[in-house]
Amino acid sequence: MSDERENLHPDEFGNLGINTDSAVVPVYLGENDKFKFNCYPGISCFNECCRNIDIVLTPYDVLRLKNNLGITTTEFIANFTNFYEVDGHGLPGLNLKTKDDMKACEFLTKEGCAVYEDRPTACRYYALGNMAMRKKDSGEAETGYFVVKEDHCKGHLEDKEQTVAEYRHGQGLEEYDEMNFGFQELVLKKKSSGPTVGAPSPRSMQLYFLATYDMDRFREFIESAGFKDVFDLSAVEYEKIISDEFELLNFSQRFLKQVLFGENTIAKKQNAADVRMKKKRQRMAKKQKELNDQTEERPD
Ligand code: SF4
Ligand code: SF4
Repeated sequence: MSDERENLHPDEFGNLGINTDSAVVPVYLGENDKFKFNCYPGISCFNECCRNIDIVLTPYDVLRLKNNLGITTTEFIANFTNFYEVDGHGLPGLNLKTKDDMKACEFLTKEGCAVYEDRPTACRYYALGNMAMRKKDSGEAETGYFVVKEDHCKGHLEDKEQTVAEYRHGQGLEEYDEMNFGFQELVLKKKSSGPTVGAPSPRSMQLYFLATYDMDRFREFIESAGFKDVFDLSAVEYEKIISDEFELLNFSQRFLKQVLFGENTIAKKQNAADVRMKKKRQRMAKKQKELNDQTEERPD
C-alpha cells in the first residue's frame, strides 16, 4: 500500500458514482498494489451494479456516449442526463438519468450494458474508486485509488488478482483518465479557489456548460463572429479544433481557464476591444433606427 497519501486530502470530485448509499472501504492503493476482483457475464450479481446508480459524467463520457448513440451532445444531454450543482455557486454537473423505481441505468439490458464500448468513466472504475485529490496548500490534482466493496457485488469473492495498473488497462482507463484530467483539474481549482474567484457571471456559467458538456453548441460558438473577433488563433489551430471534437474538448479547457480564472490561455486580437465596441455601436444604432421608424409609422 502507498502511505504517501496520508498527507493528501480527498476532494469532493471523483469518478465514484455507483450506489452511493453503500459503504466504501477507504484503503488507498498505488498503481502497483494488488487487489482481488473479477467480473464477467454469468456471475450471480450480473447487472446489480447498474441499478440504484448515481453516475457522474465527465465531458469525455458525454462525447463517447453520444457518438455511440449517433446523436448530438445537445440531444444526449436533453434525453439521458440530469443536472446537479457541483459547488455553492451553481457550477453545473451532469449525471446519468435512470429509469423505473430501481433507479436502473437507461442503458441497462438483460444482456448487460448496451453502450459497453463507450461506458462512462465511473462504470469502468467500479470495484475501484478513484478520486482527484490535492496536497495541503496546493491546487495540484493527484489521483487516489481505493477498493469499493458493496454487499451485492460478488466480484470481490473471486480469486483473480491484479494490480491497479492492470485493472485500469483492462478497463481502457488510461485514455479516459488522460481526457478527463484537464476537466478534473479545472473543477478542483474552481472549488478550492472558492470566494477568491467568486460566483461566475450567468454568461460565464453558460459558457462553462457549453465548453464542458455541449461540444456541438460550443463548436457553433467557436465558429461565431463573436469568438473570431476576439480570439487570435492560427488557421491551423482553428481548423484542428473545428474538425476534431476531441481536440475541441482539450481546447475548451484552455478556454475555460480564461473565462473562469482570467488566465491568458488564448491570445486575444490587438484590436478586439475596438472591434467589439464598433459592433456594439452599430447594433445600438440599428436598434435606434428601428425604433425611430416604428414611431414615424405609428398613426397620430
Ligand atoms: S452505462 Fe452501462 S455499465 Fe454503466 S451503469 Fe449504465 S448499463 Fe451499467
Ligand atoms: S461483479 Fe460487481 S461489477 Fe460485476 S456485475 Fe456483479 S455487481 Fe457488477
